[in-house]
Amino acid sequence: CPLCGFEALHPNGFYTAHVRVLNGVEMPTVIDLHKQRWRCHNCYPTVSAKTPLVQPNHTIAAHMTERIMKLAHERLPVKTIARIIGISASSVQRIIDQNLKLRPARRLPTRLCFDEFRSTHGMMSFICLDADSHHLIALLGDRFNRTIKNFFIAHYSLAERTRVQTVTMDMNAAYQTIIHEVFPKAQVVIDRFHIIQLAARALDQVRVQALKQLDDKH
Ligand SMILES: [Zn+2]
Repeated sequence: CPLCGFEALHPNGFYTAHVRVLNGVEMPTVIDLHKQRWRCHNCYPTVSAKTPLVQPNHTIAAHMTERIMKLAHERLPVKTIARIIGISASSVQRIIDQNLKLRPARRLPTRLCFDEFRSTHGMMSFICLDADSHHLIALLGDRFNRTIKNFFIAHYSLAERTRVQTVTMDMNAAYQTIIHEVFPKAQVVIDRFHIIQLAARALDQVRVQALKQLDDKH
């Protein structure tokens, strides 16, 4: 008995699980898995036989995870993976989410870039890159200062954070208020792209105003 260690278990019928498995062709395949149930006469509860094919209470075979992750690494859309594997897109997404290990970089580069982007459900997410190599440093589900601050403080020591010299961002970012708390030595750098954009916009406004003042409409 896996619960109390009692030596003898008594058969207690079968439970049939329908397990989705891989089959090599693009067709959903289900195995009807008859699991032997056992009852312990010492501690009384019933237990099920286990198999490496599928985790207890799961209906998707364990070997599918590996295949799904491999296809996801090839950047196939979730819907395509779902069609190849023969399970629903939401199951594929759940398996990817559960098995995706986004480990933060061990060391911080001296120059960082911060930005935000629209991700799922119209949410804004936060992204941080190494400004020189453009390698991903962090990807966070939201862009709240609290989340960003907690992430860097939880993953990097003060000594490591002190090494950061510059953080590049756009002008309307609210991150500026936490930069000096998180990276004591860092200077905030406004991305030159945004400065050029502002200058171009200002020039354009002046140009349009000047045009409107002209009497000659041609
Ligand atoms: Zn028992």
